[in-house]
Amino acid sequence: MKVFDLVESPEVGIVGCLHGNEKLGAQVIRTLSSREKKLPIRTVIANEEAMKRDVRYIDTDLNRSFPGGQGGGIEERLAPKILKALEGCRYIIDIHSTTSGMADCVVTTTDSFRKRKVRELIEAVPIGKVVIMNKSIGKRRSLIDHVRCGVSIEFSQDRAAESVAAIVERSIRNFGEDRRRHSRKEYFKVLRPLKIKDSSKLMMKDFRRVAKGSAFAVAAGKKIRADYDFYPIFINERGYKDTTCIIAKKIVLGKR
Ligand SMILES: [Zn+2]
Repeated sequence: MKVFDLVESPEVGIVGCLHGNEKLGAQVIRTLSSREKKLPIRTVIANEEAMKRDVRYIDTDLNRSFPGGQGGGIEERLAPKILKALEGCRYIIDIHSTTSGMADCVVTTTDSFRKRKVRELIEAVPIGKVVIMNKSIGKRRSLIDHVRCGVSIEFSQDRAAESVAAIVERSIRNFGEDRRRHSRKEYFKVLRPLKIKDSSKLMMKDFRRVAKGSAFAVAAGKKIRADYDFYPIFINERGYKDTTCIIAKKIVLGKR
């Protein structure tokens, strides 16, 4: 883990590389750190050991290892150190990149999303899609489940660090003095992971509705039809083992 403060007592924690093969986080941190006007941030490059080996994790998925502890593998022991490093920060932005070709999205969890501050932080991020993970995916062991206020953001892995850095800066400005809200958000509540065995063809796109009764994949020569309306996300994300995608429903806030 590498921790670096850009100013004294920074209020924002920027986390990158919880997953060692997601180098975008470190690139964005480098970009943010090189800004002439110092941002009020503490940067945390999380899983350096996994980065060196260019793997998602070594013993356990770090973003499923919080709060961690003394026993266990590398990530279990690293998790409490990360939480300790972030203790003084008022809020956290945790940067990820995905092998899925999907649009950028803010990721929160059912527990975390109950907090008003978290919902306000989400509103400050200039990204339109919000994914609310449940415990079928995060197991309540992700970083953002264990900090006072935090969100993760997923970017496509080939995104330029500069454009991601600009989004992070704008989020900080919006959540700070400006109190500007980026409205027009779509909220996707995760239902469960979906595994299609022997699939030869997928006929669905991330964040595009699959209507009840329509065919969304061909497996073992047969069309598979939807039992109910859903939205697939994280299609072909390699980090999610034994999962073709995650399925979600779209929700309207206030009717949660
Ligand atoms: Zn990740």
